[in-house]
This record gives sequence, structure tokens and C-alpha cells, in this order.
Amino acid sequence: MKDVFIVGVTGSIGTQTLDIIRQYNNEFNLVGIGIGNNIELGKKIIEEFRPKIISIKNKCDLNLSYQPEIYYGDEGLLKVASYKTEREMIFVNSLVGISGLLPTVYAIKARKNIALANKETLVVAGDIINFLVKEYNVSLLPIDSEHSAILECLKGENKNDIKNLIITASGGSFRNKTREELINVTKEDALKHPNWSMGNKITIDSATMMNKGFEVIEAHYLFNVPYEKIKTILHKESIVHSMVEFNDGVIKAALGTPDMHIPIAYALRYPNHEKINGSDDFSLIGKNLHFEELSTERFPCLAYAYLALEKGGIYRAVLNAANEAAVKLFLEDKIPFLKIEEIIYQELSNDKYKKIEYNIENILNISNKIIKDILERFGD
Ligand code: MN
Repeated sequence: MKDVFIVGVTGSIGTQTLDIIRQYNNEFNLVGIGIGNNIELGKKIIEEFRPKIISIKNKCDLNLSYQPEIYYGDEGLLKVASYKTEREMIFVNSLVGISGLLPTVYAIKARKNIALANKETLVVAGDIINFLVKEYNVSLLPIDSEHSAILECLKGENKNDIKNLIITASGGSFRNKTREELINVTKEDALKHPNWSMGNKITIDSATMMNKGFEVIEAHYLFNVPYEKIKTILHKESIVHSMVEFNDGVIKAALGTPDMHIPIAYALRYPNHEKINGSDDFSLIGKNLHFEELSTERFPCLAYAYLALEKGGIYRAVLNAANEAAVKLFLEDKIPFLKIEEIIYQELSNDKYKKIEYNIENILNISNKIIKDILERFGD
């Protein structure tokens, strides 16, 4: 039996993780959760699983049938992250954005194994997180279909044999549009992802291709592979979830239906491949697979991710913060779609961040400042 904690429990990844826990209720016990704004769903989850510790974004009265420990706000998330039990613990982080960073750090320090859907944690602080994972002797596994596929392809392989990691991209909601056609696209258009059903922020990140850029950074830290060896490829079917190319020319790929239950179960029960309830049988018969170059002219945000890696240090936090603010503005109808990449590039080009020392405290301070500044500049 393992004790599981899920922050961001009412979101897309959170609720799908609960499905896996329901199926394997003889293996997993839900001990702690973090709830955001969806109180109604949060309350249902609490009454079903009766976790011992709960954090809620804003103070509210839940009228529960039992008395768990309840905390609020950012502080509450950290309480859940640091909570300790006698058993092996797994911390599922499906928060959105930089807000996921500190909970991951606290969870590692409480010796929880990490199942990470909050890729921003690795984008802004991958090397620090890797250091902590080693120091506290915990595991870190991705809840991200591409990285789950790479993990699969690397099973039993020697790191020195890797020529390239090849991350596939569906192309997002605007893959068939030209740059001109992007000028007037709306939030509603952007939120219709053709292959995956996900939260709003990541769906916009997919449309701008910032998500793929983040995934390059994520892969760099997860697999400890130089970013020059991390490539991306457009694959509109989302059947090949990613690939590893070896020096002898062999390419291994992991294929399957685009269903996040699969990477979630893999992260929780690695390296197990048992049947997942409700997940359809998948057949390749009749399927056509296409692969095309992913153009950084068409999708400049992808190039910005490599630029941030090249600039190093705090610049990955700058990239993430500028994106976080810009996506928020777009979702509030305050800026047009193409302004997102413009805001990111402007911030990334600013040399004033060069002298800032790279550590968790500065990552958080700079991120909050950039987000606040950009929101003020374009907000009301
Ligand atoms: Mn992904």
C-alpha cells in the first residue's frame, strides 16, 4: 500500500489519477489533496476518499461528514506537500504554472516520490529539482505522454547509445493555420484541441507550441540528455507519443491511444503495464501516421525554449513567467493570440536578468514580478 497525495485534484490530470486509484484501491490510499476553485467537485472527492489532510485555495465552509485537517491558500498546499506518513508516499503534482514549484520542493524534502504533471517545475528549476531528488533519495516520474513514452523507450538502454530524443507534437488547435490566419483567432478557437482534452492553460500552450518547448526543457532535465540532442517532430495523429533514436540508427517509439490515464498509471505503477479500466483497446489497423518538420518560423515559441536553455540560469523562469502572464491575458480576451509570443520574446531578450543569481527564492521572486508587471501593462 502506498499513500498518495494529489494537488490540483479537481483538474483533468487530478480526476484521471483518481480513476487509477479507484481501480487499484488495494495499492493506493489517498491521504492528502489540494483543491482549487472547484469546491463542488472537491467536496465529492473528499467524501468519497476521506483524505486526512486537505488544502483549499480560498477559505470556505465544506460541512463534511468527518474531520480532516484543513488548510488554505499557498500555505495549505505546502502543508499537504510536507505531510508525512509511515508508508511509501507518492506526490502527484498537477498544479498549473509556477505555483507547482514549491509544493514539489516541499514534497521531495518530506521524502515523497514525485509524479509530475506540473512541467513548469522542471522548466524553471530542473537542475535544482534533480539535485534534491538525489539528496533525498526519492523518484521523479513524468505524467506527460511524451516523456512517459521516452521513459518506455529508454527501458533497459544505455544512455551513451542515445543519438536523439524525438518529441512528437500534435500541432495544437491551429496546426492547419498560416501565420496570417492566426492574427484573428479567438480563445474559443484555441481551446478546441483536436486530440487531447486538457486544462485551459496547457491547451493554449499547445496552440502556441510553448508546451512543446517546455517539454524539450522537461526532457533535458528528466533524462539528463543535452538539449542539442532533443528534437521535435510534427505528428498530427498523436499515436506515436515520442521516440528515441540510437547511434546505430535504430529508432524506438511508444505508440498508443491518446489517453492520459496511461501515462498516469505508468508514473504511479512504473514499470507495470496492466489493463486500465475504461481505456479502449487500440488497433493500428487502418491508421495512417504522418511526420513533418515542426517549423520554428511557424511556431517561434519552440525556438524561445532553446534560447532560454542557451541563455541559462534564471532565463527559463523568465520564459515561463512571461508565458504564464501572456496566456492569462489571452484567456481574459485582453490580448490577441500572436501577442503571446511577442511578450515572451521581449522578456527573454532583456539582459537585465543575466545578473540574477539562480536559486529557488529568486526564481519565485522574478517570476512573480514579471507576471505582475506584464498583467499590469496589458490589463485594466
Ligand atoms: Mn505532453
